[in-house]
Amino acid sequence: MAIANQKGGVGKTTSAINLATALAATGKYTLLIDLDPQGNASTGLGIGQNQRARSSYDVLLGQASVDDAAVGSPVPRLDVIPATVDLSGAEIELVEMAERTHRLAQAMKRAREPYDIVLIDCPPSLGLLTINAMVAADSLFVPLQCEFFALEGLSQLLSTVERIRTRFNPGLSILGVALTMYDKRNRLTDQVAQDVRAVLGRVVFDTVIPRNVRLSEAPSHGLPALIYDHRCSGSQAYIALARELIARMPQPAEVAA
Ligand code: ADP
Ligand code: MG
Repeated sequence: MAIANQKGGVGKTTSAINLATALAATGKYTLLIDLDPQGNASTGLGIGQNQRARSSYDVLLGQASVDDAAVGSPVPRLDVIPATVDLSGAEIELVEMAERTHRLAQAMKRAREPYDIVLIDCPPSLGLLTINAMVAADSLFVPLQCEFFALEGLSQLLSTVERIRTRFNPGLSILGVALTMYDKRNRLTDQVAQDVRAVLGRVVFDTVIPRNVRLSEAPSHGLPALIYDHRCSGSQAYIALARELIARMPQPAEVAA
């Protein structure tokens, strides 16, 4: 599942870390691939620079396998392929390469480790990194921040998805759109949430992620909020969201059919 939105600061990485943690907690063997050169998902899961000898950059360039690049995390059953700053050059380096849109998909096909689910944290752009994620994924998770311009840019994202479906990956589905940073004291965010539901309908998850300072503090401790403070409103919301996510995921039998 690719977690994408070309806007920065909408909750992609926070969702990636906490959903991955919640999924691992249900017993699913989970891999989180950090595909953002900023490496926030890696840092937020306590992966130090000394554990990033092999990274998502090496996987894309064919210099490391998925199995070799994956490292453990503080969360049982959750592995991470960390990102390094090298990745910022990858958008340009990939342009010259054969099969530049399929590098991640091919690496995933060769992976031996039997992960139940793989989440990909995308950078804030619709460049080749995000395209590699969308080509490799069966589904897409889109966080939308509850602010006035929430829907702006969504049509560009959806037309990218459409292009990827037509050209490379007909099975790519939009699993859902999640509203993030909801502030119940702010009437504007409530209005935005209603408007987004009116426009997008049932693709929007029922669960809304509240604005919660614990969610933003947790990464500085190298821990998911779900471990740092599992009782806070943000953690509880991500648990509920993970439940909805699991209910929407295709079951293994359907995938095989
Ligand atoms: P993205 O990956 O889309 O750029 P992040 O998940 O990194 O977005 O979130 C941007 C910033 O907002 C980070 O500092 C993060 O800790 C904070 N943040 C994300 N979600 C919430 C939330 N629900 N409540 C409070 N802060 C949040
Ligand atoms: Mg991010």
